[in-house]
Amino acid sequence: MKKLEDVILNELSEERAFKHMEFLVNEVGERLAGTEKIKKAANYIKNEMETYGLDVRIDNFYIYHSYPKNAELRVTYPETKVITTKPTCHIASTLPEGIEGELIYAGVGGYEDYKGKNVEGKIVLTGMTWAPPRPEKARIAYEKGAKALIIMNWGPTNNPVIQMGGTKSQWGNPTPETFRDIPQIPVIAITRAAGEYLKELCIKEKVKVWLRAEATREWVKANQPIGILRGKKKPEEFILVGGHLEAWGKTAICNSSGNAVTLELARAFAKHKDKLERSIVFAFWDGHEVAEAAGSTWFVDTNWDNLTKHCIAYVNIDNPGIIGTSIPGVRGVTELKDFLKNVIKEEWKKEAKWSNAYKGGDASFFGVGVPYISFATGYTPEKLKELNYASLSPWLHSEADTIDKIDKDLHAKHLRFDGLLVSKLCNMLVIPYNCSLVADELEGDLKQLENIEGTKLTSRLGSLLNEVAEFKELTKKLENYKEQIERLSTQIDDSKKKKGVEEIANLLNQTLLKISRNISPIMRSEAGRYGHDPYGYSLVGKPIPILYTPLTKLAKLKEGSEEFILWETKFTRERNRVFDVISNSIDHILLASTLIDERLKKYYV
Ligand SMILES: [Zn+2]
Repeated sequence: MKKLEDVILNELSEERAFKHMEFLVNEVGERLAGTEKIKKAANYIKNEMETYGLDVRIDNFYIYHSYPKNAELRVTYPETKVITTKPTCHIASTLPEGIEGELIYAGVGGYEDYKGKNVEGKIVLTGMTWAPPRPEKARIAYEKGAKALIIMNWGPTNNPVIQMGGTKSQWGNPTPETFRDIPQIPVIAITRAAGEYLKELCIKEKVKVWLRAEATREWVKANQPIGILRGKKKPEEFILVGGHLEAWGKTAICNSSGNAVTLELARAFAKHKDKLERSIVFAFWDGHEVAEAAGSTWFVDTNWDNLTKHCIAYVNIDNPGIIGTSIPGVRGVTELKDFLKNVIKEEWKKEAKWSNAYKGGDASFFGVGVPYISFATGYTPEKLKELNYASLSPWLHSEADTIDKIDKDLHAKHLRFDGLLVSKLCNMLVIPYNCSLVADELEGDLKQLENIEGTKLTSRLGSLLNEVAEFKELTKKLENYKEQIERLSTQIDDSKKKKGVEEIANLLNQTLLKISRNISPIMRSEAGRYGHDPYGYSLVGKPIPILYTPLTKLAKLKEGSEEFILWETKFTRERNRVFDVISNSIDHILLASTLIDERLKKYYV
């Protein structure tokens, strides 16, 4: 019998995918939450998936949205000049008379860029890169006391595009607590050339600008299509495949290209569903661009039980096939690193550029702990430099994001790759989580924390390192089981024994899943299992964020001072949380290995 991946790769059609893209770009185009346009796109997707034979629904729920209105910008000193601008969304609008202030250039708007600068009550100018992303630039500028923020676009100097976007920072719908944290700052966007002019002026002398900006803030109803395809063998287990439907401008790259891939995958897998072992859920997120991943966050909140127990991985499909990109790159979680690098090598015949998943691009799953995967080709380092680090193209979020910006052959390769990846995830006997890699990273993180300059309380980190060492040793057992199961499953014909191997594989899968779920919130968030860090939150990239913050504070404080004691208490409690997570992971392995060893003996010795 042919393997699932072979029939899927044979079935997938770029022509069909491209037709979806043409419809979504040319017949729909910009589709913000709460508009007739996104309804039209959602209905198209629903109808398509229904014809393929999936169970389809459109979820409607409230999201906290914002529409841009208008903005103006003028240089008032040392010269007068009008600059074309647009407001970003989810901003504090100015009064009609606008605001005036001194302009300070702050690089790309990360914490490092503010060193030695006092921006309180001033207007900040930053470049547009994804490090940090736009909402995090706004959050930091607001935290630093700036009274407005101006973001110049990326891309070459002659790039005429003004990039649209949101700056809410709070991930998904706010709660009573996070509602109060939304940055209350006007933010406007300008072209690269205008930004470079202002930057040069700022470097030479004191500059004053005047601006006014207006955008709405309101609750709208989402339209989020979901399609379900049930597996034959383990229908309760599933792979979540999705990408954002809400989109700015002409939408080809971001994200009609991804929607087209997802739809064509749905068709191909539906046609061969008799070969599908696990289920697949296809999702088209609303509330991505302005409400900062509100659609995928709502999905996590309301499908918590199933995601916690049964979801093997989330495959995010966004920006596939940008013309001029060639480097296969994947953002993911550590437990999937070697698996993903191998699948990429199989299809792309080259090494993948690996990046740890960050809090961006519908990564709404760090709390619930479903492993995140996002793959797309990127520019070479030389090309990136030439484009002023426009990693997602100079045309992102604008009317210039037309269908000619997609390389059809490259898009076809992305379609094949995603088909291969999802096939494997659906039908692998043992799920491809490598907990040894997680243990290595955890150990590395703790050692980094021990080495923060001036760090006190290292003995309490030392005891965590001992616990990690035990965990690391035990994860080798899990890798051994994987090999034994693989070997047995290929050697055995006897149907009773085959069932026995499957039972052992299920036990191992449950253990891997529990460990991954357990560890995810401490490695990838500060907000923990039930909260969400802000979009692009800088601290998520730090080693064990919940320990990093108190330790860096303590390093600068005088021992015995009141603030020191407060942070020490905080540190101790977070340290205990990390201890529990590692210790629970150890218990999972010990318990599972008793059960697995017993069964291995019963069937095979
Ligand atoms: Zn996108």
